[in-house]
Amino acid sequence: MNVLMNASYLIASLCFILTLQQLSSPKTARRGVLLGVIGMSAAVLGTMFLHPDIKTFRFIAVALVVGSLIGSAMSIWIPMTKMPERIALSHAFGGLAAALVGLVEFQHRGHEGVLDRVTTGALGLEVYFGFITFTGSLMAFGKLQGLIGGAPFTYRGQNLTNVLAFASALLALVWVIIDPSQSTVFLAIGVVGLLLGVLFVLPIGGADMPVVISLLNSYAGLAASATGFALNNKVLIIAGALDGTSGLFLSVMMSRAMNRSFTNVLFGAFGTGDTTQAAGGAAAPAAAVLVNQATVEEAAELFRSAQQVIIIPGYGMAVSQAQHAVRDLAQALEANGTTVRYAIHPVAGRMPGHMNVLLAEANVPYDQLFDLDDINDDFRQTDVALVVGANDIVNPAAKTTPQSPIYGMPVFNVELARTVIVLKRGAGSGFSGIENDLFAKPNTVMVYGDARKTLNSVVSELAG
Ligand code: NAP
Repeated sequence: MNVLMNASYLIASLCFILTLQQLSSPKTARRGVLLGVIGMSAAVLGTMFLHPDIKTFRFIAVALVVGSLIGSAMSIWIPMTKMPERIALSHAFGGLAAALVGLVEFQHRGHEGVLDRVTTGALGLEVYFGFITFTGSLMAFGKLQGLIGGAPFTYRGQNLTNVLAFASALLALVWVIIDPSQSTVFLAIGVVGLLLGVLFVLPIGGADMPVVISLLNSYAGLAASATGFALNNKVLIIAGALDGTSGLFLSVMMSRAMNRSFTNVLFGAFGTGDTTQAAGGAAAPAAAVLVNQATVEEAAELFRSAQQVIIIPGYGMAVSQAQHAVRDLAQALEANGTTVRYAIHPVAGRMPGHMNVLLAEANVPYDQLFDLDDINDDFRQTDVALVVGANDIVNPAAKTTPQSPIYGMPVFNVELARTVIVLKRGAGSGFSGIENDLFAKPNTVMVYGDARKTLNSVVSELAG
């Protein structure tokens, strides 16, 4: 039995490692997800049917049905644009589960008199990271959903308070390791974890939440790993460690793609939506910016005469679910002999790979997708750069205006194209809340309206 269970854990661990490897490219990502499902099934089935501690399925079956119903409902009804919120909620539940397991195990083992120091240390870490993930993720969800103010909340001595809270949790952990009978001190670790989750996320703006969510993901992984040590469950240790390190790497990579240091994201109170630092100094009212507007017919005419087109999708494409319309336009242009490529920014949209997922859903060929570094020099030879609901990732202020909050963030050189066509609904700013000079450039034309509707009209115009 034990051999079979360990074999199922080995299969699960291999699948998890391969999952991460396959998820690193959009070409293989679907296979990666499938491997993850297989790995998780092997781990769950191996535990349920082969673990000696599982005596009855009664409670497990109830939890399985309830969890599956909630999970299915979430994946069916939560829209793609709300993915960061959904992920934050999942992490909150994951953290809570780990923390509750830690509390129960501590109480149970203490009662049985089998609580050694190593196990107590692992359980303490599990409860601490579990609860910090729980409240931190709920805060992140609340900020993104607008249930609590998305602006960073700062006060004097904030970092000192956090450091003191962290130090007290550490002290309490050392105390229970020395004397595992101190159940109140053990509980205090959990309480500080709950508090720190709130304090940690308070000063971070809604804008930076995806980075925070990814970091909380790594905390959830550490909690799972600690659970594995406490329960002597190897697959939990491995899965938790993979989750912990990949979450941390992802947060750092996202910060880099925004040209922000990781510490600036965590302590910089960015994302206030404060437009006073807009490009060129004081923010001009959006309506005052003079732009060239074009009709759908004029846009279609520009496309008809274009040989080289680069499409730059952004968050607005996700909002309007315009990915299928984008593909339809690309196909119409290709039928006319135009070369169409897509420029994918690492932080376009609101989560890593957001644009890749949407375009894959619309069956856009992977080989037409180009990363920033691979396509940024080609705009000069491009007839039309089509910006679909993107703003910050094409804002030249990131290159030209040192006082801009996005200065230094790598952006697409779209302004070098012969003509830039921007699809957006109106004068709305992007994620960083600042003005965009691109819209007022002489070679830029704005086609206002929902991106999907505009694109569908352009395709009809080209066909007609
Ligand atoms: P963005 O700067 O947020 O701009 C999106 C634009 O889409 C808005 O200006 C909006 O203008 C337009 N829009 C919204 N709904 C639309 C619709 N239905 N049809 C047409 N246009 C629509 O987006 P981005 O250029 O993709 O930049 C992403 C930003 O998110 C960056 O600042 C990045 O740092 C940040 N971020 C990304 C991640 C990530 O992992 N991807 C994580 C954290 C932060 P209107 O309202 O006028 O339509």
